[in-house]
Amino acid sequence: MKEIILVKYGEIILKGGNRPKFEKLLMDNIRNAVRNIDNIKMSIAQATIYITPQNNDNIDLICERLSLVFGIVSVTKAGVFEKNMDAIRSGAAEYCKNDLLPGRKFKVEAKRADKHFPLTSVEISMDVGGYLDDVMDGLICDVHDPEATVKIEIRDVAAYIYCEQNKLAGQGGMPIGAGSKATLLLSGGIDSPVAGHMIAKRGVEIDAVNFFSFPYTSERAKEKVIELASILAKYTSKINLHIVPFTEIQLAIRDNCPEEHMTLIMRRFMMKISEKIALKNNSMALITGESVGQVASQTLSALNVTNSVVNIPVLRPLIGMDKKEIVERARTIDTFSTSILPYEDCCTVFTPKHPTTNPKKINIERSESKLDAENLIEKAVEGIETMTIYPKM
Ligand code: ATP
Ligand code: MG
Repeated sequence: MKEIILVKYGEIILKGGNRPKFEKLLMDNIRNAVRNIDNIKMSIAQATIYITPQNNDNIDLICERLSLVFGIVSVTKAGVFEKNMDAIRSGAAEYCKNDLLPGRKFKVEAKRADKHFPLTSVEISMDVGGYLDDVMDGLICDVHDPEATVKIEIRDVAAYIYCEQNKLAGQGGMPIGAGSKATLLLSGGIDSPVAGHMIAKRGVEIDAVNFFSFPYTSERAKEKVIELASILAKYTSKINLHIVPFTEIQLAIRDNCPEEHMTLIMRRFMMKISEKIALKNNSMALITGESVGQVASQTLSALNVTNSVVNIPVLRPLIGMDKKEIVERARTIDTFSTSILPYEDCCTVFTPKHPTTNPKKINIERSESKLDAENLIEKAVEGIETMTIYPKM
């Protein structure tokens, strides 16, 4: 039996005159997401992308990959049948037999896009519903609360049949490439990967920056960040990761600045260096995993102090979220178990016992003025190691 994949997309439909451009982008991203599985054929009609794999054995794996592609709302495989009622009746019974078991509540929902087809949508639904009720054992027709909804789409070239409940939910959002690029400050923690996923979901390409304090943070900690980037790359297709040597800056801060200001000064260096990297790589904004009040460096006065060193927008998609909500998202996007691996982050190594929670910018600037910031930043930027991270499969 021939099968195809039906991909439904969401917000793109609202894009008016730009819609074809976004549809093309989504199709390019789809091809890219499955390029190492199958050389698929694609067509598009009535807000659905039709995908035919070269090899039917790949179909489940392709559906799984597509469920991670931003812009897609749902993915389902469907049986392909001739457009006559005999073929449609027996096709529905055969293709949905595992969903139409004895005792199941079911209904049939037909949609006739091809208006030349002799029966209306309602007539097709009633006809096939009656047929399934006759030939399948113990089915219960229930149009209000069905456990199995047999969908029939009559299109120009064929009739497509599937069971609604077998649809995979997609990520939603917009296709990557629709919204230029932003630079994610990616630590090894729980929050920043979630923040990156949320902005990428809006169609934004992501570069990542990690600050690394060898030998205070181990090679394992670096591997963990690479692993997190490779999980994020499952959604974005690839990520350029810039690893910035941060030890010298941290030691200079530790040796020259008041302990209670250490974290904020360090965060200001991170922001400044990230902005430099962003500007060099055509990136329009920074992304952090900050959330109001989560730690001392994330009170509003602290955020003012760290924000004031950069001029490009800083996107903080987690800003109003509780830790519990962030953890839930981290589990959903599959970064949580990697994030909680116990390797030191560069911040945890140099954490003061009593960080200021209500800092004044002028005091922080005074403490910071003891450092040759320009020279320290220049050296760190010179030492950046950049790698392209591909999806972890
Ligand atoms: P996370 O769970 O994302 O590490 P956090 O709650 O530990 O966040 P902080 O350590 O204050 O919070 O960091 C705030 C934000 O600063 C992080 O979400 C991340 O965007 C960025 N950040 C912190 N440490 C690093 C690092 N070593 N490299 C890159 N970015 C960092
Ligand atoms: Mg952290």
